[in-house]
Amino acid sequence: MKVPIAPILQGMGVTLSNFVKKPVTVAYPEQKQPVADRFRGRIYLKLETCIGCTLCAQACPNGSCYMVDYDPGFETPQNKRQKFPAVEISKCMYCSLCEEACPTDSIRMGKEYETGAYVRDFDYKPDRLSQNEAALGRGPYK
Ligand code: SF4
Ligand code: SF4
Repeated sequence: MKVPIAPILQGMGVTLSNFVKKPVTVAYPEQKQPVADRFRGRIYLKLETCIGCTLCAQACPNGSCYMVDYDPGFETPQNKRQKFPAVEISKCMYCSLCEEACPTDSIRMGKEYETGAYVRDFDYKPDRLSQNEAALGRGPYK
């Protein structure tokens, strides 16, 4: 029987070359890879600058972003009616159209991507949108 030496050596060569290469995987969630500069993660809202113009909600193609009445606990002369956006983040498709429509850069796509949780509370009202996941005590931060 003829032993296929060349293909075996070729395969061993691939194995050996990968054996000495630096691993591309990391031990997530203890280690994390940095995200790209233009990565679109979870949305954040800056309550201090939002003028309640509703453009973000109008730009949202699937109704994830909508306006609510909310009292942030401080004066908002730029937003007298105290209307702020809320986002149902389980429906959000991270398209960034709300961010692009905002004239004051108040609603922004962040870098955070760990929004999984053990409870189904993905309706982020303005108070939650203005904090990150660690501050909310959700997901892997529990
Ligand atoms: S990122 Fe897109 S889908 Fe998500 S809230 Fe903004 S406009 Fe809506
Ligand atoms: S987040 Fe921006 S677009 Fe949305 S209501 Fe506030 S100012 Fe207007």
